[in-house]
Amino acid sequence: MELLDETIVPESARGLKAEARAFADEWIAPNAAEYYESGEYPWEILEAGMDAGLVAQDVSEAYGGRGLSLSQLLAITEEFYRADAGIALTLQLASFGAEILQEHGTDEQRETYLRPVAENEQITGLAVSEPDGGSDLAGMEATAERDGDDYVIDGEKFWIGNGVEADWVTLYAKTGDDPNNRYGNYSLFVVPTDTDGYEAEHIPEKMGFRASKQARIALEGARIPASNRIGPEGAGFYMLAEFFNYGRVIVGGHGLGLAAAAIEEAHEFVHDREAFGRTVNEFQAVQHDLADMRTEFEAARALNWRAADRVENNDDAGFWAAMAKVKSTETATFCAERAMQLHGGQSVLAENRISRIYRDVRIPVIYEGANDIQRNLIYGQTPK
Ligand SMILES: Cc1cc2nc3c(=O)[nH]c(=O)nc-3n(C[C@H](O)[C@H](O)[C@H](O)COP(=O)(O)OP(=O)(O)OC[C@H]3O[C@@H](n4cnc5c(N)ncnc54)[C@H](O)[C@@H]3O)c2cc1C
Repeated sequence: MELLDETIVPESARGLKAEARAFADEWIAPNAAEYYESGEYPWEILEAGMDAGLVAQDVSEAYGGRGLSLSQLLAITEEFYRADAGIALTLQLASFGAEILQEHGTDEQRETYLRPVAENEQITGLAVSEPDGGSDLAGMEATAERDGDDYVIDGEKFWIGNGVEADWVTLYAKTGDDPNNRYGNYSLFVVPTDTDGYEAEHIPEKMGFRASKQARIALEGARIPASNRIGPEGAGFYMLAEFFNYGRVIVGGHGLGLAAAAIEEAHEFVHDREAFGRTVNEFQAVQHDLADMRTEFEAARALNWRAADRVENNDDAGFWAAMAKVKSTETATFCAERAMQLHGGQSVLAENRISRIYRDVRIPVIYEGANDIQRNLIYGQTPK
């Protein structure tokens, strides 16, 4: 059964899709269970992904990357997440947020910070969310105060992928206090993780995505040069919103890969398992479950690939990206839930792939903006 069939993928992305499938088969799928259990950071697989030219390669060729397009990244994403979500997230977080520097940074910033990421010498993270809330981007409390030629950053960040492992993070902080311009109060900065006053620790064990690591970051008087600000002061919210349009199409791909994995597992199980003297797939109710899962999956995939095209062409990008994220990630939760039921008691054995998928699907409905927030965006940005 080939759920991630290539006919919906633009021709320009099919080569990358094949590369990603081969890598996922060799490196991700066979190691998924082990990393899930240990919760270790999969350095070895990250390095193999770098060697294969599949990590941080959306950076343009001018700065050492392959200049992969959104469609090419989405094609890779579906394949990686089908194999294992936690390892896949680690592979993709290696350049998380660096895309903002590519889009809005100066040539000097790109040479200094972006090139080492594209050349796989450094890894990054994006530090936006805080302990008291991640949904209200105009309510974050970490501050960056200008002091001569520097900014001094204070506050806390939470849930930050690679907050411990990264060489630098793109950090979102408050630089203004104008109550009439809530969205103009924030800026983005490159913050090297060896800056004095930057302290990161891993957050406690998660129920899913166990091969990826997130951190709590405490910033106390962390001083960085003003030249590390990305784009104009006060433009952080808008740069982030633009970046999230791109990211949400990719997170839709997280859902698609997970949904495909759930369907595969359910299909295989019910064709093998016997009850009442026949294989379980012979019951019409079971066939309807499989039919519903497949229908939802195909609908989500069609929407997600359409959204990729719209976002690439900057055509009502926010609206399409939010719809793709909601539909694909919720299709993953739906398919995983049905697949669990079809596995009966086998579903709850930790060693079975379906139980891993079931725990993983709870996470993409939250990150990159909880789906409730996406629904606000879909309504608010519906083209007139
Ligand atoms: C595994 C993982 C990895 C992550 N990686 C990163 C990362 O690398 N960088 C980063 O910055 N963040 C990261 N996050 C944080 C993530 O983006 C936030 O968890 C998310 O934005 C939600 O924020 P919150 O958890 O603070 O929920 P809150 O903002 O406290 O919201 C809680 C719930 O309230 C509801 N709600 C809130 N506001 C509204 C509203 N306006 N309308 C309707 N309902 C609403 C929603 O149901 C929401 O889920 C990660 C999270 C996880 C779980």
